[in-house]
Amino acid sequence: MADLNVFAHPPPKATGTIDAEAEACHTAWEGVPVGSYGWHIHHEQLVEQTTEPIEHRIRFIIDNKPQHEVALRLRLMRPVKDAAAIASARKAYDAATASARKADAATASACKAYAAAIASARKADAAIASARKAYDAAIASAHLIECPNCTWDGKTIFPEALP
Ligand SMILES: [Zn+2]
Repeated sequence: MADLNVFAHPPPKATGTIDAEAEACHTAWEGVPVGSYGWHIHHEQLVEQTTEPIEHRIRFIIDNKPQHEVALRLRLMRPVKDAAAIASARKAYDAATASARKADAATASACKAYAAAIASARKADAAIASARKAYDAAIASAHLIECPNCTWDGKTIFPEALP
């Protein structure tokens, strides 16, 4: 965002007294319902929806913020005029976010299934190895009894013919 100049403004005009700014702020917000979008309700937030009557915020700013900040805070805290544009963009943003969350959940679920499948395959491999060992032992044992004097070396009955 730092290289974008979309937020650049001329320096703020001199503000009026706290009383005058508070009155102008009240007037600007008259009839604007809670939940509406507003500019600079908090000093590090460009735009947000109100969660309580703006009068509470005005009162809070006057009572709690450093005196030299109050007039500018009240000057800039204004209801958004084109709320529909913001609401519509917000809706698209929320939909994209919800979609991404679903994809993340699906990924997590697939990862879990993948891990379970791998664990299952490892168990099967271990079972095969164990059964193979028993099979080899049974064959070796039967071969020993049934095929005495055998030249079988494990690979061939002609071991000396091997290079
Ligand atoms: Zn044999």
